[in-house]
Amino acid sequence: MDPIDIDLSAPIYPSDGTGVVPTEANERIEAAGGFLPALTSALERKLRKPGAHGDAMRAMFGNDQYKFTGQMPVGYAHVRRDPMGRRDIRIYGHPSGRYYNSAEKFLPHVVAMLVFSDHCWCELC
Ligand SMILES: [Zn+2]
Repeated sequence: MDPIDIDLSAPIYPSDGTGVVPTEANERIEAAGGFLPALTSALERKLRKPGAHGDAMRAMFGNDQYKFTGQMPVGYAHVRRDPMGRRDIRIYGHPSGRYYNSAEKFLPHVVAMLVFSDHCWCELC
């Protein structure tokens, strides 16, 4: 079965992204398409995870497969840091002004926004 496409930038999904992207000299904003496959993989790993946390995720998402497509959530930006060689990423836009450095860390925040939850368990909230 084909995965269910989720375009996080669609107006049906709420976003608390600030749009503030304080890129430094060695950073540049990248296309969302370079990041969304990693976010999709992070979701797949969470949905396969045994235990209570995985159970909670499966209760929310069921047994379907999902694929993040389109753009980043409104107000969030995928930034590549030091494009010469290193592969560091930063996801800017969190209201705290801090950034995520992996899809794994951004995923909980994305999930909280997707399910309209006030309780976010990401490390920046
Ligand atoms: Zn959060």
